[in-house]
Amino acid sequence: MAKDYDPQMHTAEHVLNQTMIRLFGTGRNFSAHLNRGKSKCDYHFQRDLTDTEAGQLEAEVNRILAMNLPVVEEFVTLAEAMKVVNTSKLPPEAVEDPDGRIRLVKIGDYDVCPCIGAHVESTGECVPFRLMSHSFNEPDVLRLRFKVG
Ligand SMILES: [Zn+2]
Repeated sequence: MAKDYDPQMHTAEHVLNQTMIRLFGTGRNFSAHLNRGKSKCDYHFQRDLTDTEAGQLEAEVNRILAMNLPVVEEFVTLAEAMKVVNTSKLPPEAVEDPDGRIRLVKIGDYDVCPCIGAHVESTGECVPFRLMSHSFNEPDVLRLRFKVG
């Protein structure tokens, strides 16, 4: 994890992922570079977003963040985790000692995913989310660049 890893950026990433899933049917990002100043996330998608769609995405992420949803963690067994999230890509370190528990991070009722990172306590700390640019690379990589706060 980068030295300047930023809980605000990272929490916004969770909300961005869930919003991409809901608006555009993508999965969660498959690659993310989070920095305090500016971050980028890559999604598998078949085309670029239009500027109108990018505006809708930014507005929706901000709408969710502004609801000031609580960010809470919950430790569950792998079997329990498999009922609510895709656990196929869990890194080995996501399995917490001593009893093999998985840490799920929930953002209100909006998003849940297994995560070992650091988060803010509620999403209002991430406002405003600014989508700085979007670009597409053949065959299927959509890159989003954003800032928060
Ligand atoms: Zn996280």
